[in-house]
Amino acid sequence: MGGKLCANLQCDQKSIFFVTVIHDSLPTQFNLARRGVIRDSRCKQCGGVESTLHALFWCIATTAVWKQVGWWSLVKPFLLQVDMKGVLIWLVKGRSHLALDMVGWVVWVVWR
Ligand SMILES: [Zn+2]
Repeated sequence: MGGKLCANLQCDQKSIFFVTVIHDSLPTQFNLARRGVIRDSRCKQCGGVESTLHALFWCIATTAVWKQVGWWSLVKPFLLQVDMKGVLIWLVKGRSHLALDMVGWVVWVVWR
């Protein structure tokens, strides 16, 4: 029972996370700087501007994760997108539910 409750809570956290991603409101350095919470929008890993796309796909630390799980070729086209809307449109066009699920899980793990 406790495990099922924890699994449901995990699912709820993941759902909230994806709504946040879709609305591009993750607390990335760029979003925090845009809101005036901090001044420096640079990524602490590589020094690039830490947008949502950077944090989830473009950062050198993040690309290493995608390469390690063997899905770099799946997400590499995201480098051509300029915002999360573009990524989401690209993702839902002709992708299987399995591919979407795989990307979703890795994005969730990368952010955590
Ligand atoms: Zn970075």
